[in-house]
Amino acid sequence: MPEQSSDLIIIGGGPAGLTAAIYSTRARVSTLMIERGAFGGQMALSDEIENYPGFPEPITGTELSEKMRAQAMRFGLETTFASVKAVSSDGRQIKVETDSGNFTGKAAIVATGTEPRQLGVAGETEFRGRGVSYCATCDGPFFKDMELVVVGGGDSAIQEAIFLTRFAAKITVIHRRDALRATKILQEKAVAEPKIGFLWDSELVDIRGNDTVGEVTIRNKKTRKETVLGIGGVFIYVGTIPNTQFLDGGYEMDERKFVVTDEHLQTSVPGVFAAGDCRKNQFKQIAVAVGEGALAAESASGYIEGLSS
Ligand code: NAP
Repeated sequence: MPEQSSDLIIIGGGPAGLTAAIYSTRARVSTLMIERGAFGGQMALSDEIENYPGFPEPITGTELSEKMRAQAMRFGLETTFASVKAVSSDGRQIKVETDSGNFTGKAAIVATGTEPRQLGVAGETEFRGRGVSYCATCDGPFFKDMELVVVGGGDSAIQEAIFLTRFAAKITVIHRRDALRATKILQEKAVAEPKIGFLWDSELVDIRGNDTVGEVTIRNKKTRKETVLGIGGVFIYVGTIPNTQFLDGGYEMDERKFVVTDEHLQTSVPGVFAAGDCRKNQFKQIAVAVGEGALAAESASGYIEGLSS
């Protein structure tokens, strides 16, 4: 298959990638976006977004994703669906290898985000899709009137536990410490919700069932006492891992494989920039991803201009 060429290749169509595309296409830099699934990334899986400026009432992740995509398309963004295998530079051009052919550009922006981390307990893989889920927005309606557990104490766990109250009879949040990491306003909502209970200093030991999840064992980390809970589903939110496996070799990463960049968001490979949740940064938020997308596009445009001067 012949290689396709654009000035800029953006990998990933979440808020960072889509914002980068709005800025690069408006700067008249020919831009191709490579996305492997649906536009919006993790943002598209959020039921209610209430901390993104400009929307005084909560907006759904699907709606915000579609608005960002439509805005980028309006200025001439080209898109293709493929899974990226490698991004390399020969010093003159960037080569992006995918499962649907290769693409070349003068610069690239990696905006591939993160995916949910697995807990690694017995039964987790076996019952995935049969009661074990990492996405309440996707799967919540299947758990009508059931008792559920949510594992984790961050924004994702608490936001999704609140969302699940629309369907489930009761939700028990299992957290390994005695204090939540989630934003205070989410904590307040969860604590005030009668359907949500908490098991502090506790860990999920295993997940069992027949065709679908039927019960879990929970251990109190202080007393070591184990309790069996009969439940219909387990939602796991114990952090995220960056989608950066295809950058292995040649790129500076931190110990968790988030991409390290300079202040212009350039990676250790000249001409390859990174933005959003896949980058080593302090705060994983849509507003941050959007800002980084704009900066990466500006830096990439400047880099491309510099090549011809
Ligand atoms: P997170 O903030 O890293 O929280 C992960 C949670 O899982 C923590 O409570 C952690 O416990 C717990 N955990 C980690 N490993 C565990 C293990 N092996 N066993 C049991 N528990 C474990 O991840 P997240 O909630 O997915 O959020 C990811 C990022 O997206 C964050 O920056 C978050 O702020 C952002 N986000 C924001 C929103 C929003 O603004 N509404 C919504 C979703 C996500 P400890 O607390 O003890 O470490």
